[in-house]
Amino acid sequence: MTGRLVVVGLGPGSAAQVTPEALAAVEASEDFFGYIPYLDRLSLGPHQRRHASDNREEISRAEQALRLAASGGKVCVVSGGDPGVFAMAAAVCEAIESGPSEWREIDFSVVPGVTAMLAVAARAGAPLGHDFCAINLSDNLKPWSLIEKRLRLAAEADFAMAFYNPRSASRPEGFVRTLALLRELCGDARPILFARAVTTAQETLHIVPLGQARADMADMRTMVIVGSSRTRIIERARGPILYTPRGIPDEAAG
Ligand code: SAH
Repeated sequence: MTGRLVVVGLGPGSAAQVTPEALAAVEASEDFFGYIPYLDRLSLGPHQRRHASDNREEISRAEQALRLAASGGKVCVVSGGDPGVFAMAAAVCEAIESGPSEWREIDFSVVPGVTAMLAVAARAGAPLGHDFCAINLSDNLKPWSLIEKRLRLAAEADFAMAFYNPRSASRPEGFVRTLALLRELCGDARPILFARAVTTAQETLHIVPLGQARADMADMRTMVIVGSSRTRIIERARGPILYTPRGIPDEAAG
């Protein structure tokens, strides 16, 4: 008997940013797979079981979840933010593609969530108000040379840039190199936003010019947004607003 598997995004942290659809999918499931801090955000009933795993075990977690769903389970895989953004939805798809054919019979669905980039942008104002890109700075799954190429091309295209996974204890050097490269490509005056643990009690936001940015301003709970050449700051007593205007006049388009 084939069951079902839903991959659910729990948003950036606060209960207020979990969608009603995500809550309904959690309520309708019985077996939960995910990284421990995400499972800790669920209030589960007595008939619901947790299968916690470490953050680095994404494919084996996806395979375990699929095996249980293939045998009839009502399985939920949880991610922070949106599950399709550097998270479990693609890991489950990879496992389905390379797994046994019966995994293709499973009723598989993905419930979106508020990704960190959008929660952070909303807190700061509208830094992604014009064209932007998102780059994962972790070199766990790709070589540094590719990250550097993408940074160069994104800066050349004058995108605002949102960076996930900027820095971890196991690879502190990458973000030092990222900041040096960004200074070279975008100049010292370009605004950079460090937003940590947004929507939680530990939330902090700092906007500085790139010339004053230091690698230790970011950790694994931080999202970093670098503005485009059009991004500006509205200074106010209540704190700055960071935004990118929607239009680019013909003469500024380059
Ligand atoms: N699927 C998640 C992203 C997973 S990658 C999503 O859509 O948000 C993990 C990275 O997301 C972190 O290193 C950090 O860069 C960012 N992140 C996740 N939650 C965050 C939050 N509440 N505040 C700031 N950044 C966050």
